[in-house]
Amino acid sequence: MAKLIEVENLTLQFKTDEGLITAVDDVSFSIAPGEILGLVGESGSGKSVTAKSLMRLNPSNAIYSEDTKINLHLDGQEPIDIMQIKSAKDMKVARGGAISMIFQEPMASFAPAITIGDQMVEQLLIHTDYNAAKAKKYSIEMLDRVGISDADKRFKQYAFELSGGMRQRAMIAMALSTKPKLLIADEPTTALDVTIQLQVIDLMKDLVKEFGMGILFITHDLGVIAQTADNVAVMYLGKLIEKGSVRDVLRNPSHPYTQGLIDALPQLDNLDVPLKAIAGDIPSPLERPPGCVFHTRCPKNLVTACQATVPEFTTLKKDHEAACHLLNEEVTS
Ligand code: SF4
Repeated sequence: MAKLIEVENLTLQFKTDEGLITAVDDVSFSIAPGEILGLVGESGSGKSVTAKSLMRLNPSNAIYSEDTKINLHLDGQEPIDIMQIKSAKDMKVARGGAISMIFQEPMASFAPAITIGDQMVEQLLIHTDYNAAKAKKYSIEMLDRVGISDADKRFKQYAFELSGGMRQRAMIAMALSTKPKLLIADEPTTALDVTIQLQVIDLMKDLVKEFGMGILFITHDLGVIAQTADNVAVMYLGKLIEKGSVRDVLRNPSHPYTQGLIDALPQLDNLDVPLKAIAGDIPSPLERPPGCVFHTRCPKNLVTACQATVPEFTTLKKDHEAACHLLNEEVTS
């Protein structure tokens, strides 16, 4: 299948007063047009840093490894390696052009003292050849398209005047107005009521069909992933540890961490089953464990190799891989 974006060997460290901190370690994945890839993991797993890397939005103390490649494939063009873009002008393709991002908290996207409409128009003037009148008309259409009633009126309002769900929709409208090929959605439903959450998820699925774009959907919530994504990639302490179709990974989780995340979900059909949290906390990136990064919390940490060697990915079936020594016969035999 054609790829929209291919991330290869993404490794990123932050330079801090305490030394170099590894936030993302050798992460590779791809997203096809029309695909929703869920990126899952606890806080501190490196999901958001990974996502921001696709637009090179991490702070200036971020150091990418030399073999990091982020190739963007646009129709009829040679692949663009986002890591090699030098000028701010060329970077526009990855920032608000072919790639757009929405956040958990829409107030992070909207300037508080500028109306929603003025911000949408300004973005269209930067990224399209629309004049102001056309940009205004199209912005109001987009607000209407994402289900905001009285779009003309909302266009003239400030973000703080809208309800949480409406702000989220306005942010999606703004992100989609430039017709991005890839939408990065960073915990877009986490702060919403369950009913609004469902509306936003349905809206995003409709928009994928209509615009044919790919989505990188970041969340810590496997329930949301089950409803939303085609494929899922699970991260722990900066490493990708399992990836595959949502159906395969959720039904047959193969990495002990993914198994732990699924066991921690409440079972609505049997409320007497006690919740099983994963023991311990995710370690500080300053104290990254050697070998398998999950070994300090893994209930199956029985193999000597776990503390000494980073596990490679084992292919379990087509498009389903996990990185655990227990899956590798050469290590366990
Ligand atoms: Fe657990 Fe070892 Fe597998 Fe890591 S490699 S997940 S420590 S069994």
